[in-house]
Amino acid sequence: MILPVVLYGNPVLREVAKPVGKDYPKLKELIEDMFETMRNADGIGLAAPQVGLTVRVIVIDVSPVKEDYSELKDRNTNTAVLINPIILEHSGEIVQKEEGCLSLPKINEKVSRHNTIKIKYLDENFVEHIETVSGFFARIVQHEYDHIEGLVFTDRISPLRKQLIKSKLIDLTKRNVDCKYKFK
Ligand SMILES: [Zn+2]
Repeated sequence: MILPVVLYGNPVLREVAKPVGKDYPKLKELIEDMFETMRNADGIGLAAPQVGLTVRVIVIDVSPVKEDYSELKDRNTNTAVLINPIILEHSGEIVQKEEGCLSLPKINEKVSRHNTIKIKYLDENFVEHIETVSGFFARIVQHEYDHIEGLVFTDRISPLRKQLIKSKLIDLTKRNVDCKYKFK
């Protein structure tokens, strides 16, 4: 089921999400709905707060951008489900790259992030994984991890850039936005 995407300005995006247990009701359906919602909106990553649930669940599907990044071609799967993820280490150089977000349609800004991170998470079967990831995949994970910590990518841009997009953010808060997917 396609769910409405929570846009910037909704306070749910500012909450620190809670860990989920195996007994979380309808977790499998939530994960399926998140994938469907993300793909419908042409996204490559989505965190549960973006569909209004303050739980630590992230879905990723890099298929649309796989050919653009060698580190994505090397991955044996295009999709990932990250439950209760923890970033254990940041390393590598700081890389600046343009990002966008389904919760902030039509806004793209350069964000500085570490190139490499070591993550620990549970997959959809509650199997624990510890993985070191780099490049674009590491960027997606850091962007989505921000969401479960109550942050959005525009929190990480310079004050000058933020000033320059201020009117766009205000329009977004007023839901004065041209957005092709359902939102709330
Ligand atoms: Zn986002």
